[in-house]
This record gives sequence, structure tokens and C-alpha cells, in this order.
Amino acid sequence: MVGVVERLAAIVGPAHVLTDGDLTAAFETDWTGRWRGRCAAVVRPADRDQVRAVLHLCNSEGVAVVPQGGNTGLVGGAVPPDGAVVLVTTRIREIGSLDEVAGQLTAGAGATLGAVAAAVRGSGWEVGIDLAARDSATIGGLVATNAGGARAVRYGPMRSQVAGIEAVLADGSVVSRLAGLAKDNTGYDLAGLLTGSEGTLAVITAVRLQLVPAAGLRVAALVALPSTADAVALVSRARRALPGLLAAELFHESGMQLVLGHASLAHPFGAPGAGAYLLLETSDPADALAPLLDGFDDALLADDEAGRTRLWQHRERHTEAINAAGVPHKLDVSLPIGRIAAFEDRCLALVGDRARVVLYGHLGDGNLHVNLLGPAPDDETLDEAVLRLVIEMDGCISAEHGIGRAKAGLLPLDRSAGDLAAMRAIKRALDPAGILNPGVLFEDARQT
Ligand SMILES: Cc1cc2nc3c(=O)[nH]c(=O)nc-3n(C[C@H](O)[C@H](O)[C@H](O)COP(=O)(O)OP(=O)(O)OC[C@H]3O[C@@H](n4cnc5c(N)ncnc54)[C@H](O)[C@@H]3O)c2cc1C
Repeated sequence: MVGVVERLAAIVGPAHVLTDGDLTAAFETDWTGRWRGRCAAVVRPADRDQVRAVLHLCNSEGVAVVPQGGNTGLVGGAVPPDGAVVLVTTRIREIGSLDEVAGQLTAGAGATLGAVAAAVRGSGWEVGIDLAARDSATIGGLVATNAGGARAVRYGPMRSQVAGIEAVLADGSVVSRLAGLAKDNTGYDLAGLLTGSEGTLAVITAVRLQLVPAAGLRVAALVALPSTADAVALVSRARRALPGLLAAELFHESGMQLVLGHASLAHPFGAPGAGAYLLLETSDPADALAPLLDGFDDALLADDEAGRTRLWQHRERHTEAINAAGVPHKLDVSLPIGRIAAFEDRCLALVGDRARVVLYGHLGDGNLHVNLLGPAPDDETLDEAVLRLVIEMDGCISAEHGIGRAKAGLLPLDRSAGDLAAMRAIKRALDPAGILNPGVLFEDARQT
């Protein structure tokens, strides 16, 4: 490995190869603190050609490579197995000029979502995706995980924002389609294949983003409801009544209390007690929202930025507040939206007093985050029991975070033998030596 480290330094410059444990530590642990590894080196290429050279070298030497962007992923997908090279993309962050006519731009994979959002602010276009990790999460990471976030109910997940991708395959060859053509049926959709591939098929180096028209008006409402079933019914009505619905987020008193304690905030409704909280945001005028809220005494509305931020923090700060309470087991599941309330009841009964459960999520998409606090980091018993319940109720075990290392052993619960064989064949074809992110998606990708 010593020789490889020297050759990596010759490619990217010695300042951009880290081997000292104090310097590599931040790249070896995930955001939740649950997943750790010990890499041989962290390498930070400046551009696509350096990525090519790094991959070519590692492929010929049989060294595993773990692509990493902002390291905000929640399934251990960017954490290295021992001895791997972590390839960090954050120096590849150039943001190209905006094509105002098409509403598109090309961003380097390491540009953060926040930086791209800032670059297009005021243009009449905006990025159709948003999430609380916006200032660290990178465009490459968002595409590699096919991230969702609060606005997916309106604009779809990251897949819907991708108009083209440039990426480097394991052997250093480049695939590139960045013209951003709305219609392009010339062969396989490689951008579609790489979206959601979690760093197992290629290192994404640039993304052509399709932006969405910026919402002029934004009105947010935080509603306290008797139960999740009431929240589901309200979301269903909101989807029909509000063509501009941008978000429909669910949380509960358990999460509310964690956020209030963590952020030293007063209860927005004065006292606890609601069965469920629903945060709606729409680009329709407040008048359109009002009839939906008739009959609910506890609803707070805001149409200015400060007021919306105040309401949103109760939802957006869940992830950090849960992390501050312990090392969570994070399950991110999809269910038919009509079964969410029943799932919550059955999940709470199943877990009982074996863990503290915090449930919240993107209700408009039927996407629930199940957070379990208490079990030891390596004790998967409850995770598996909850995920089996999800499948029994016609859901899937990853809605937006991906499979990563966290759920690799459980993938066969959710995908058929035929699906898995097809996925392994794709992996073998694009990465025959299995150097890219071994252990992610498939428990042992080197033996595909
Ligand atoms: C506070 C908070 C809120 C969040 N909210 C949401 C949310 O609402 N919705 C949601 O979907 N996620 C959410 N996440 C999870 C996370 O932000 C997303 O998964 C995001 O897409 C990860 O981007 P990243 O740059 O940090 O990727 P990383 O964590 O660095 O990597 C994630 C995966 O992508 C791969 N990867 C990264 N860059 C590349 C690349 N250039 N080429 C190939 N593979 C690559 C990695 O190998 C890894 O498998 C949240 C996380 C936090 C901490």
C-alpha cells in the first residue's frame, strides 16, 4: 500500500492524500457515529482526470475505493472498509453557468446543494430538491443516493432533477451525457442507472441539473392533529386542493420534545398533547389553505421567511436532535400512504420497551423514518423485525437513504432472486474487480 499512497500523491499532490489518523478520522465515521472503518488513505482529486487516474491505479492494484461527498449519508455507504481508499469529491465543485432558457446547469459532483441553490437564487429557477443537510450534502452524493427530501412530493426525488451525468467507471473510463436533452433515446440510460447506485458502479464527477420554476409565494402551516390517521386524511385533501403543495411532513410529540430540548425552544402550541403534527408548505395563497384547516383549533401559519423557518425548525432539526440523544438505528421506509397509521401502531407495539422510538417523515410520499434509540450499534434484531413488518405491509426497506452497509444484509428480504441476480450482473459488468464500495448494497461485492 505504501507504493500506492506515493502514486496517489503523484496524481493529486501530496497535500491531498491524507494518511494520518487524526486527519482521516472525520472521513472514516458516518454522520450518526454508528459506522466506522480504518482507511489506508483519503484522496481528494481536483477534477475528472485525477479521478480517472486514481481509479485506474486502484483498479490495477486491487485496492477498494469508497466515493465520499459530504458524508451526510445515513446508511454507512461512504464509510470505508478497513484498508480502502476514500475518494472525496469536495474539490470538484465548479458550478457552470445557468442556461436560463432550459433552466439547467452543470455542477461538479462535490458542489453542495446549498451552493447550487445560492448560485441560481433570483434567476426564477430553483433546485427541485431540498433537505436539512443542504450545506454539506453534495450533488454527487444526492444523485448517488437518489435523495428525496421535503419537496419530493411536488418534484420527485433527485432522479427527476438529473438531466445528465458524467462519471468515471472502475477502470478509469468515462461515461458522459451532459447535453441535458429532454428527449434522448439513443441507447441505455446510463445516467438513470448510476442514479441511486450508491458509489458501487462509478464515481460521478458532474451532473447536469434540471431546475424547476422558483415558487414565488410560500405559505407554511403547522397543524396539531388528534392522530396520524387525521394527518393522512388532511394530506390527501391537501393534494387535491393545493396544486402548489410543496411539502407534507409528519412528526410526533416524541420528536417534538427532543427538538425543543435540543434547541431550547418553547412548545409552539404552548403545551404537548397532539397525536400528530403535520407541516404543510404550499405555493398557493394562504386563502387556499384556510378551508383545509377549518375545524382544527391548533394551526400556525406563516408566509414570510422568518415565520416559515420558525415552523420548519421543529421538523428539520429532528435528525440532529435524535443524534444528540444517542446513536440511533435509522430505518427509512416506504409504505402505501393509507397504511402509515396502522404501521405506526404495529411498529410501536412490536418494539415495546426494547427501544425509544421516534417516528417522523415525508408523509406526502408515504415515507417514514423509524429511529430506534437504545439498542447497541451492532444489534440488528429490532431493525430486522421492523423491516419485516414493513414488507408484510407492502412497503419497502429504503425510501430515500439507500441500502448502504446498514441494510446490505437485509436486501434479500425486499428484492427477488431474479432482481438480485440482475443487479449483481450489472455490478460485475461495470466493476469486474469489485473495487467500488465493496460491502455496500451487496454484503460482499467482491464475490458477486
Ligand atoms: C440532517 C440531515 C438531514 C437529511 N435529510 C435527508 C432527506 O430529507 N432526504 C434524503 O434523501 N436524505 C437526507 N439525508 C441524508 C443525506 O443528506 C443524503 O443521503 C445525501 O444525498 C448524501 O449526500 P453526501 O454528499 O453527504 O453523500 P455521502 O454521505 O458522502 O455518500 C452517500 C453515498 O453516495 C456515494 N457517493 C457520494 N458521492 C458520490 C459520487 N460523486 N459518485 C458516486 N458515489 C458517490 C457514497 O459512496 C455513499 O454510498 C439527511 C442527512 C442529514 C445529516
